Amino acid sequence: MKRIHVLRLDHRIGRDTRITTHVCLTARAFGADKVWLSGEEDTHLMSNVEDIVDRWGGDFKVEYVKNYLSLIKNWQNVGGRIVHLTMYGEQAHKIIDEVREESEDRDLLIIVGGSKVPSKVYKNATWNVSVTTQPHSEVAALAVFQHLLMDGKEFDINFNHPVFEVIPTLHGKKVNIHDENKS
Ligand code: SAM
Repeated sequence: MKRIHVLRLDHRIGRDTRITTHVCLTARAFGADKVWLSGEEDTHLMSNVEDIVDRWGGDFKVEYVKNYLSLIKNWQNVGGRIVHLTMYGEQAHKIIDEVREESEDRDLLIIVGGSKVPSKVYKNATWNVSVTTQPHSEVAALAVFQHLLMDGKEFDINFNHPVFEVIPTLHGKKVNIHDENKS
């Protein structure tokens, strides 16, 4: 993949703040470069996510998009591929090799829905993909799909210029603090 972006549909301020924040943090932690937020423009949420990126490192971006269908069209026009995560799609573990191969030299947009997803999203997706055929959550679906996509490489991502860096340990908490990266 050249770039992995996530499009979160139909965000509602207040009601979805927590889950959309978790969509952003999950996308980042598992290797996405950017989340596009559509629905209600939530500048507070976006600046919270940017603060987390400042503290934990990396180049992850979050941006609002009013007309997400234009984003989808532009993505297709430059040859990018699109995965729409939905419980009705083909099972992720069955389609993942094809997604990886077809997206090897291309950008990949992963779409997660909100309360209701218009049929245009299903029609424009290269692949409609399910993570189990049971209803659950955009965060769970995204994490499992990105894990399959990355084939475990997300465990070794280096987030550059962090202020905080966790040192994995079986007991207690070890965190290195890099004062030189404070902005
Ligand atoms: N009926 C919806 C659907 O099509 O998956 C579930 C709505 S759920 C509240 C919101 C979002 O979570 C969905 O739009 C989808 O992106 C994601 N999601 C939930 N369950 C999923 C599953 N089993 N597989 C893939 N994505 C799922």
